[in-house]
Amino acid sequence: MSAKNKRGTEKKDVIIIGAGASGLMCAIEAGKRQRKVLVIDHDKNPGRKLLMTGGGSCNFTNYHIHADNYISHNPHFCKSALSRYTQWDFLSLVKKHHIAIHEREHGQLFCIGSSREILNLLLSECGEVGVSFQLNSKIEKIEKTGKRDFNVRTGQGNFFCESLVVATGGLSIPSIGASPLGYKIAEQFQVKVWPPRAGLVPFTFQKKDREKLSALSGISVDALISNGRQRFRENILFTHRGLSGPAALQISSYWQPGEELTIDLLPDTDLVNELKTHKQHPRRKLKSVLAEYLPKRLVAAMIQSDLAEIPLHMISDSQFTEISTQLRNWKIKPSGTEGYRTAEVTVGGVDCDAISSKTMEAREVEGLFFIGEVLDVSGWLGGYNLQWAWSSGWCAGQNA
Ligand SMILES: Cc1cc2nc3c(=O)[nH]c(=O)nc-3n(C[C@H](O)[C@H](O)[C@H](O)COP(=O)(O)OP(=O)(O)OC[C@H]3O[C@@H](n4cnc5c(N)ncnc54)[C@H](O)[C@@H]3O)c2cc1C
Repeated sequence: MSAKNKRGTEKKDVIIIGAGASGLMCAIEAGKRQRKVLVIDHDKNPGRKLLMTGGGSCNFTNYHIHADNYISHNPHFCKSALSRYTQWDFLSLVKKHHIAIHEREHGQLFCIGSSREILNLLLSECGEVGVSFQLNSKIEKIEKTGKRDFNVRTGQGNFFCESLVVATGGLSIPSIGASPLGYKIAEQFQVKVWPPRAGLVPFTFQKKDREKLSALSGISVDALISNGRQRFRENILFTHRGLSGPAALQISSYWQPGEELTIDLLPDTDLVNELKTHKQHPRRKLKSVLAEYLPKRLVAAMIQSDLAEIPLHMISDSQFTEISTQLRNWKIKPSGTEGYRTAEVTVGGVDCDAISSKTMEAREVEGLFFIGEVLDVSGWLGGYNLQWAWSSGWCAGQNA
């Protein structure tokens, strides 16, 4: 039973706002320290976003976790937490719960079954250490009433706690409950917030490009995509409205509105040389030669139709260079992104310089902690964001 204080409100040691990946991990660890933990969420169910992860199979971590796989105004901040609670630590928890897993490319680790297994793991560990939950509960007001004393007023009651952990995530997928509450709490306590923006998100084409390229919807090709500062080599996927696929999602987290992308559609091919070699069959049309390298529909969209119909022997070497440039140095300026509606992550957030990288506690606000995606730490695609949720949640759980 929780202690009742004189105002008839419940007193907890730790209140965690957000029953997502980081909040549940923090609850488990604080609970192991015999702290009385309450997790509050406005959703009816805990871990709803977790269930969507990895297309329903949860890419829960990656064999190759490194600070370089994260974006933050303070690129060093994530190092301490990631080294104290590693991918191997989470893997051993997964093994303890006998969850069958498999590795996909780039060291990404998924459940063979479903994401629910990871959520069940977290809820079962929470149960073992007596974590309590108050779901479907709106936070109405938060006040700091003493040095280490917070009052959290909710639609379902009033709570006091020594440690308040903000684990409300980012803004992506508002339809399942993403909200800016974490940023508002930070601002209430004068903790700076870097402007959030959608990351790991598909691009949208400008109108003129959409008219030309929407017919390519469904085509996926290996490509090298760059915005001048960062580059990724993976598949891109043409959609009705723009570009998606792992390479496009990855670069989107680094992209600034108005920036041009450069895409190499044939990253391993010396196309000029290849075309010269094909001149041995001079009557073949350019389009049929290029179709050996790229889907026909893509060739048709990228190469002028009159040129595509010309036999190779009528095409000059300098035209070969132009064709190669078109396909290997394709420039496209997206109109924007699909935004938070489909973004997998939020870039920006609570300023890491205001937070201790060891404890996740705000430097200037004793007892106030921030973990997970609400912080200005965003991972690449591939299990990096969940590992950040586990690592930061674990660290706060040792100290909250
Ligand atoms: C479709 C999709 C797929 C993804 N797949 C992967 C993947 O496979 N691997 C990977 O590493 N990452 C993946 N991610 C990213 C990953 O899910 C997040 O980075 C991670 O869940 C962040 O954990 P968190 O605890 O910070 O926030 P969340 O898990 O989002 O949890 C935040 C919690 O706070 C609650 N909350 C929010 N506002 C309030 C409020 N006002 N009052 C009370 N409660 C509130 C929410 O209801 C939620 O339960 C994916 C994201 C999406 C959207």
